[in-house]
Amino acid sequence: MRNINYACSKCGPLAGLAEPVYVCPECCGNLDVVLDVERVRSAHSPASVGAGADRSLWRYAALLAVNVPPVSTAALRTVGGTPLFPVSRLAQHCGLQQVWIKDDSRLPTASFKDRASAVVVARALDLGVTRLITASTGNAGVALAGMAAAAGLEAVILVPESAPPAKIAQLLVFGARLVLVKGNYAAAFNLSLQAARELGLYCRSTGYNPFTLEGKKTAAFEIAEQLCAESGEDGRDTWVAPDCVFVSVGDGNIIGGVHKGFKELHALGWTRRVPRMMGVQAAGSAAIYNAFAAQTSEIGSVHAQTVADSIATDWPADGLHGLQAATQSGGAYLTVTDAEILAAIPELARLTGVFAEPSCAAAYAGLLKAARSGLVAPHERVVLLITGSGLKDVAAAMRTVGTPPVIAPTVAELRQALL
Ligand SMILES: [Zn+2]
Repeated sequence: MRNINYACSKCGPLAGLAEPVYVCPECCGNLDVVLDVERVRSAHSPASVGAGADRSLWRYAALLAVNVPPVSTAALRTVGGTPLFPVSRLAQHCGLQQVWIKDDSRLPTASFKDRASAVVVARALDLGVTRLITASTGNAGVALAGMAAAAGLEAVILVPESAPPAKIAQLLVFGARLVLVKGNYAAAFNLSLQAARELGLYCRSTGYNPFTLEGKKTAAFEIAEQLCAESGEDGRDTWVAPDCVFVSVGDGNIIGGVHKGFKELHALGWTRRVPRMMGVQAAGSAAIYNAFAAQTSEIGSVHAQTVADSIATDWPADGLHGLQAATQSGGAYLTVTDAEILAAIPELARLTGVFAEPSCAAAYAGLLKAARSGLVAPHERVVLLITGSGLKDVAAAMRTVGTPPVIAPTVAELRQALL
């Protein structure tokens, strides 16, 4: 098994930790898996990675601290490789010139969380464990259930009883041991940590297992490689980082993971910059935004209440990574209201053809607000990360779109209905 180096987000490099490693033994801070930059740079290059035939996230295996899972792990081997495409009508609507969507709603279980769960399951295979547990607001659990099913492992999923029905259906279909927990996500999260210890399960919970960041960073690798191709550059020596990336934020782990990926590319010399990371929180679940606005690294808790269930959290379990993503990159945090989030769902869909769940429509609502307030300049290259399909929460979308007319099957009635 590989020897893995970790660094605490608060106290720096750590040595000699017994696996499985979760958080800092000194301060309980969240950990980074440390990339051996010199080793990677001496043996690999953008050209060598770019020459790989595998379009999934496993094309970046040289930058991951896990072994590539065997072909027999089915859908686990297909995660990643989602499209990055320009959205000119949306850009125009925002008063911007260059906006791309990175559409991770197309991953196997229809959310970005597949990246994290794929790498955590690969880590479980490396460790030789067969039973995993996670707390989730829905998507992370679905992703673990799907990836565990693909690899033939058992997944125990703890979800707040308020999770949307589509996510619960996915969990049950994948054969996870689904348990609905009374209370909010924090209750499920705390139970998952305790259960992992006492029942001997490998814990995937976001903001606890450092390998979720490893999976999520692969989105940055794809964005930089794809934006290079979009720019018409050859990509032999360097890829292209955008000027800023908009990410919806709940516990801070996605924005932290994407930021980690861009930092690693920059450290390798494979990109010329780290983009400004722009975190968008729901106004009713804005713990990291509050710390950013107060210019403190102390992240307090809130009583989360928002239609965007995927980013609803009282206390962000990976809040410091989420905060550092913005502060270290020159980015920012902003908030959007539930009304803005709901309005953004059909607007995003009609401008781009992408049906996003409320949490990622929030990222678009934030982009619109940032563009109009001058936080983003018109010429800047912007990537909007879409992290989950709108089919995950149809009820929320239906609140914004009204009801269709019902007619007799005649052209006359159709003509009337189309007026
Ligand atoms: Zn520490």
